[in-house]
Amino acid sequence: MDGEEPGIPSDGLEAHLDMCLRCRKLLADADELNRLFSVNHSRAPDLTEAILSAVGADVRRRPGR
Ligand SMILES: [Zn+2]
Repeated sequence: MDGEEPGIPSDGLEAHLDMCLRCRKLLADADELNRLFSVNHSRAPDLTEAILSAVGADVRRRPGR
């Protein structure tokens, strides 16, 4: 399993993703990009951190309910 994601309230994250199409898409895109980069360069750029911090900011701005 992954460790904690700093800056993201993990219990709020799933609820947020449930209602926020935009963040779901961000995460899906990041996943896709990581896959593409790891094929082409065998070394993914540090996208995950940037994506997670964007999503984390959105989670904090609009807590899932
Ligand atoms: Zn969002």
